[in-house]
Amino acid sequence: MSSADLFTRARQVIPGGVNSPVRAFRSVGGTPFFTESADGPYLHTADGRELVDFVCTWGPAIHGHNDPDIRAAVAAALSGGTSFGTPCPDEVHMAEAVVGAVPSVEKVRMCNSGTEANMSALRLARGFTGRDKVIKFAGCYHGHVDSLLVAAGSGALTLGQPDSAGVPAAFAATTLVCPYNDPATVRAVFAEHGPEIAAVIVEPYPANCGFVLPRAGFLGLLRELTAENGSLLIFDEVMTGFRLARGGVQELEDLRPDLSAFGKVIGGGLPVGAFGGRAEIMDHLAPDGPVYQAGTLSGNPLAMAAGRASLAKLEDRETYEALDASGQRIAEALRAEADDLGYPLCVHQCGSMFSAFFGTERVETFDEVKEADTERFAAFFHAALQRGVYLPPSAFETCFLSTHHTGPVLDRAITALAESLREAVRG
Ligand SMILES: *Cc1c(COP(=O)(O)O)cnc(C)c1O
Repeated sequence: MSSADLFTRARQVIPGGVNSPVRAFRSVGGTPFFTESADGPYLHTADGRELVDFVCTWGPAIHGHNDPDIRAAVAAALSGGTSFGTPCPDEVHMAEAVVGAVPSVEKVRMCNSGTEANMSALRLARGFTGRDKVIKFAGCYHGHVDSLLVAAGSGALTLGQPDSAGVPAAFAATTLVCPYNDPATVRAVFAEHGPEIAAVIVEPYPANCGFVLPRAGFLGLLRELTAENGSLLIFDEVMTGFRLARGGVQELEDLRPDLSAFGKVIGGGLPVGAFGGRAEIMDHLAPDGPVYQAGTLSGNPLAMAAGRASLAKLEDRETYEALDASGQRIAEALRAEADDLGYPLCVHQCGSMFSAFFGTERVETFDEVKEADTERFAAFFHAALQRGVYLPPSAFETCFLSTHHTGPVLDRAITALAESLREAVRG
C-alpha cells in the first residue's frame, strides 16, 4: 500500500493521521511518507524509495538505523521475555553506565520518555526545594508536560500554537518564561522571585527551535544564579546527552547541573528516558523519599538492553570526533553554497547536530529564530526530498547525523543539499 493510501486511512482513525504532530508535514506542505524499514543512513519508504535520513528518529539513531549490535542485544533480551515487573540486571548496568559517563549524575532513574524524565525532574526539584516556580526559556521544548508547554518551540511553534489548549492557567502561572541568551532578564527574574524559584530548566543547547548555541557565559550564569538562590539547575539533555559527548553539553561546557534529563540516544531506539543528579536530591524520590514517581514499564528489559548496547558503542572519543567532522563538512558546504548564491543563511553545527536558518545571518535568540524564512525552508525541504534526502519537516527542528553518514553517502547528500539550496533560493 502506498504512503498516500496509508495516510488516507490513518486520518480516519488517528488524529491528524500521526502519533506525533511534526510528522504530519504541516509546516512544509504535502503529506508524510510511511517507512517500512530502515538501515544504516537510509529509510525505505512504503513507496519503494530509499532516502538518506537526517532525522535519525529525531535523535536516537546515532549508530544509524537497525544497528546490528543493538538488534542482537534486543533479540537476546527478547528470548528471555518482554517485561518482568521486578528489577532486572540490565537496569543496574544501564544506571552504572550513565553515572560513569556523566559527572553530575550520582544516581539515576529510568522512565519511558524524555517528557517523563523532565516532568519527574521538575516534581523532584519542587519536592526537594519546597518551592513551586520554575524558569524556562522561550523556544526550549521539554516534552509535552503541562507546566512546560509554555513558549515551547518545536511542534507547537511549527503549528503556530505556542501554548497548548488544555493547560490550566494555574499550571502555566508557575512557569516564568525568560528569553534564552539574555542574562539581564534572568537576573531580573531572580531578583524579583529568587526565594520562590524551585528550578531553572534549560536545553543547554536548544535544539527544538532550530539549533541555537549559548552566548559565552550564559550557562555559567544560570549555574551561579541557581546556586546563590537555593534553586536547582536542570539540564534537559534529552537531545544532547550522549549525542554531542558522552557527558553531553555539561561535559563540553564543564558545568555541573543539579539534575539532568535524558532520552533519545540513551534508549538506542526503544522508549527510554532517564533523569539523575546529586544523590542528596535523588534520594527524595519514593521509596526513600516523599516525591512519588513510578512506571510499569520503567527499566523494561528490552529497552535496557537496547540502551546499554547503544551506550557501549559510544565509549571512544573518536566516534564523536568522526561525527563532528561529518557535521562540519555539511555546515561548511551549506555556508559555501549560500555565499556563492549571495544568500543569507545562518548554519549552526556542533558534532552530529546542525540546522540552517533561512534568510538571516545571525540567530542567537528566539526572536531571531522566528524571523527565519519558513517558506524558503519548505522549498529546500522538498527539493532535498526529491533528491532522496530526508530533512526534518520543519524549519524549527535540528538535523541529526549518524556514524553511517560518512564517505560516499555523505558526499552524495552534500551535493544534493547544495543543489537543493540553489533551487530553493533561485527558484
Ligand atoms: C524530544 C525532547 C523531549 C521529549 O522527549 P520525548 O521522548 O519525545 O517525550 C524533551 N526535551 C528535549 C530537549 C527533547 O528534544
